[in-house]
Amino acid sequence: MKAEIIAVGTELLLGQVVNTNATFLSEQLAGLGIDVYYQTVVGDNRGRIEELLVLADQRSDLIVLCGGLGPTEDDLTKEVVANHVGKSLVQDPEGYALLLEFFKKVNRPMTDNNLQQALTIEDSITLQNPNGLAVGSLYQGDHSTYLLLPGPPSELKPMFRQSAVPQLEKVFPATEKLYSTVLRFYGIGESQLVTDLADLIDEQTNPTIAPYAKENEVTLRITVKTADESKGARLLKETEEKIIARVGEFFYGYGDENSLAEVVVDLLRSTGKTVTAAESLTAGLFQSTLGGVPGVSEVFPGGMVTYSPQAKVTTLGVKKETIEKHGMVSEACAKEMAQGILALEQTDFALSFTGVAGPDELEGQPAGTVWIGLAKKDGSVEARCYQFNRNRAYVQKSAVMRGLDTIRRALLAEK
Ligand code: ATP
Repeated sequence: MKAEIIAVGTELLLGQVVNTNATFLSEQLAGLGIDVYYQTVVGDNRGRIEELLVLADQRSDLIVLCGGLGPTEDDLTKEVVANHVGKSLVQDPEGYALLLEFFKKVNRPMTDNNLQQALTIEDSITLQNPNGLAVGSLYQGDHSTYLLLPGPPSELKPMFRQSAVPQLEKVFPATEKLYSTVLRFYGIGESQLVTDLADLIDEQTNPTIAPYAKENEVTLRITVKTADESKGARLLKETEEKIIARVGEFFYGYGDENSLAEVVVDLLRSTGKTVTAAESLTAGLFQSTLGGVPGVSEVFPGGMVTYSPQAKVTTLGVKKETIEKHGMVSEACAKEMAQGILALEQTDFALSFTGVAGPDELEGQPAGTVWIGLAKKDGSVEARCYQFNRNRAYVQKSAVMRGLDTIRRALLAEK
């Protein structure tokens, strides 16, 4: 089965938007055993979209188009494809009802051009849009099948997963499929991880192991190609176990989208523990990162941002003498900050962040020096020093990631 992806949108050609839909779709189609041979980007131009369709017809069984399903003049995809396959556009009753319901709910008049969003290709299967208004379509022509998806990734991804996949599985039943697991690691660099797993990575052909370095973390994707799903699951598990046996200390979670903050909040919730923080150089970034996780209010009552020495003394109760003697960027200050916020918020764990975000040095300490303190309900307190290089934003983000990992490790140690 040969597929190709056509992303429609002038903003993509101008470099204003990155074509992440193509990446997502290629990966998903590979998982369905459908090989993607071409990816193209075309502007919102009738003639050029049509030219591409003529070419795609000759070389692909499945043509996936994304973008251009919206209500404006430049949203041409449905019209051009319908015209190309000799069909008209018809109104989808469910899409139309949802459109009316939406405008009623937001209490705004619906302009006529919105009706375009409920149009689908005659004789096609309509794909409803759980996150937007424009419906998608799957049309099976004599030579090729056309899948039309909306441009915004937040609409395209759920529509693809929920509605398009079951239809594609029917139209293109695969003998062999790809199954994969993504393992996420923090606290180990890509080069070290690859060195520790060198023989496994070299020997494995099915499953394969592919490392991928992201900012502040590394992921490993294990992929198996098989016709037998349960055999695939077993092979994935076996390979995962071999990897964890070697570098399990740094493993924190699964999946492409599950962040370290989510893992920490889940762990806190499942153990019934709470956390707070007093932040200096991160200026609230740790708390804001936690705040991005739904359900965090159960485990995080609040915290403080204490930037100046005075704020550390008056708000957190850090001793003036501590700052005079050791400075703010010090083990002693980090410990007292953590103890101070623990006492205020009465949580199980309290973190503190004090350091030099840069670019200038502070108290004679170079940019990137960060102390992270951890105080616990049992009265114990410790602080560690880290050195993060690069720019200010990187230092702050790295400190937050390290803080999250500090809590994760403390929670696991208590389990
Ligand atoms: P809408 O109904 O929201 O107008 P649409 O199907 O008409 O959706 P477009 O107007 O083509 O989609 O794109 C809307 C937005 O979706 C773009 O501004 C861009 O932010 C995002 N987008 C479009 N195509 C892609 C793509 N290939 N990869 C990532 N994002 C994209």
